Amino acid sequence: MTANRQSPQEQELAQLRQALRQRETEIALLKEATDAVSSQLDFDKVMQLIADRARTLLNTKTLLIPVLNEDCTDYTYIAGAGEDVDEVVGESLPINFGVCGWVWKNKRPWWRGMLDELDETEREQWKDEIGNIIMVPLIGKKHFLGGVTGINKIGDEPFNERDLELLSMFASQVSIAIENALSFKELTVAKKEAESYQKELGKLNEILVATNKDLEYLALYDDLTSLPNRNLIKDRIRQSIKQAEAEEQKLTILLIDLDNFKELNDTLGHDAGDVLLYEVAKRFRETLRPSDTIGRLGGDEFAVIIPDSDIRTAKQAAKDFLQSLENPFILQGNHYFLDASIGITLYPEHGADFSSLLKHADVAMYQAKQDTNGFSIYNPEQDEHSQSRLALSGTLRQACQDEAFEFYYQPKLDARTGKVVGAEALARWFDPEFGNVPPVVFIPLLENSGLIKSFTEILLRESIKQCSLWHQAGLNLNLSVNMSMHNLRDPNLPQLVARLLNQYRLPRRSLTLEITETVAMGDPQHLPPILAQLVLSGVELSIDDFGTGYSSLSYLKKMPLSELKIDKSFVIDMDKDPDNEVIVRSTVELAHNLGLSVVAEGVENKEVMQKLQQIGTDMLQGFDISRPLPADEFLKFVLATNQVSTWVSHS
Ligand code: C2E
Ligand code: CA
Ligand code: CA
Repeated sequence: MTANRQSPQEQELAQLRQALRQRETEIALLKEATDAVSSQLDFDKVMQLIADRARTLLNTKTLLIPVLNEDCTDYTYIAGAGEDVDEVVGESLPINFGVCGWVWKNKRPWWRGMLDELDETEREQWKDEIGNIIMVPLIGKKHFLGGVTGINKIGDEPFNERDLELLSMFASQVSIAIENALSFKELTVAKKEAESYQKELGKLNEILVATNKDLEYLALYDDLTSLPNRNLIKDRIRQSIKQAEAEEQKLTILLIDLDNFKELNDTLGHDAGDVLLYEVAKRFRETLRPSDTIGRLGGDEFAVIIPDSDIRTAKQAAKDFLQSLENPFILQGNHYFLDASIGITLYPEHGADFSSLLKHADVAMYQAKQDTNGFSIYNPEQDEHSQSRLALSGTLRQACQDEAFEFYYQPKLDARTGKVVGAEALARWFDPEFGNVPPVVFIPLLENSGLIKSFTEILLRESIKQCSLWHQAGLNLNLSVNMSMHNLRDPNLPQLVARLLNQYRLPRRSLTLEITETVAMGDPQHLPPILAQLVLSGVELSIDDFGTGYSSLSYLKKMPLSELKIDKSFVIDMDKDPDNEVIVRSTVELAHNLGLSVVAEGVENKEVMQKLQQIGTDMLQGFDISRPLPADEFLKFVLATNQVSTWVSHS
């Protein structure tokens, strides 16, 4: 009857229309939401958009987006919209916690419809969350990303199937957007990394430039002393030569080499050696005149360029440099005296270029090592004999292979009985090309070229063999053998000595190893272990050249020595030099107090011999008694001296 009244069909139609309209709005909303989300690439913004749109779509009070962390042990609420989200967003929870945990574990959405599928305990556990929480997982192409969670619908109705459908559709749409945003995020990170890499590269480049500058400096200056190095000094010498040539001037080069520095360096350690070198360089620099240049050629070698100079100025400069070393160097409270040898060459007389000038300065320096005044001017005549060390080194190597050395023996006399009680083995080397090369020349060469080990093996073998022959003939002579510092660094030395003594059946006490004083200058508590091993095996130790190394007797007291050899420089003229006599006398006394027997070497005349006897020296050695002799002549000497015994033991 009433036109308004709707038939059931009409009512149904109207409801359908309304549902359709509702659908259309929802779809429009969904489309708009996914479009908005897809248009964003910034990950945080995408998440915030999802949260906002999902909330509108579902009409919830609160919407949260939990996202799984990379290692899938936690999830973090990274975005949210609606009530109380500020408290929750940013919070991380363990994966098995709450509804989220359930969703990820079961890989299904959470909503009221799940209720029937839950078992008794789960239903009991979750019953309060049912209806007012809905959560659908966000699933990426490869793995779970997280979820979208709606909490409490506005109007407090429970979430229904339609909500689930809508949210699921939305979630599958936005998952793609999330993945895009994620890869964009990764890209951004990579880009940032690339940028910081770029920056790093820039920094590295700066460092490289600085290093190059350092290298440039290192290439020209010596790191330790800050003096010009070999390269720079070479360049300076060349320039100085050019200048001298242009201005028709002379020019001198000084080559300064420290004496026994290598030994000192080995004994004190390289750090202490470096300190000494630094101090030496400092003194040299202070000695230098402004017009001159000094550089370090390497090791303990320095070169000085003196422009517009002659022999006279060069000599004076050499004296000044030597004088600068006169005061001791103080290192950890100990005094060390350093000496140097200086070779002088003159441009243009001795050479017209760097290499010939330096080579000749080297020859002169070697000459200086053997002279007394510490410097020497190059002498072409001498150079004919003074061999190039380089050539010598090669020949020496061959000599070691051929065992081309001979050993001479110098008698050691008992000062009271006048009998020969021992012999010092001294090496001799004759080379057809170079003639007789003295040991002071070839021993350091052996040391520097790594040949000393094989040389010492020959020396020990030959001399021990020789001494054992004397023993077999009934002559109980003691054998003294010189050891270089390098030998004491050879861990095989004690074995070698023991093996040879056994092989030739020489009693251990019959062998005395002579070591120079510098060995004792280090910490006596930390005696080279090889030395300690040798002493333990029964071999005797003697300190050679005593008095030249400035070590104190109290130092020596701590060493397992049995003998002390006063250096010949004090002995030779002690009959004429009262100072030296005093030194010898007090050394003998002190050594005796320490229980050491004393040998005086360099006995060159009868007066000295008598004085030494009066003083109470135990053993005597020197040219006046006998020069070092070949083995057979030595034997004759022993037989004559010990049997005839014409010795006058009292003055
Ligand atoms: P050193 O150990 O001090 O040897 C003593 C040196 O003084 C020997 O010189 C000897 O010939 C010399 N001499 C002996 N009596 C007198 C004298 O009355 N007056 C003077 N002015 N000199 C005398 P040599 O044989 O030329 O040896 C020099 C140095 O070479 C030795 O000094 C030693 O350090 C070293 N040397 C010699 N042979 C060997 C060796 O086989 N091995 C090692 N490592 N070094 C050796
Ligand atoms: Ca000696
Ligand atoms: Ca000596």
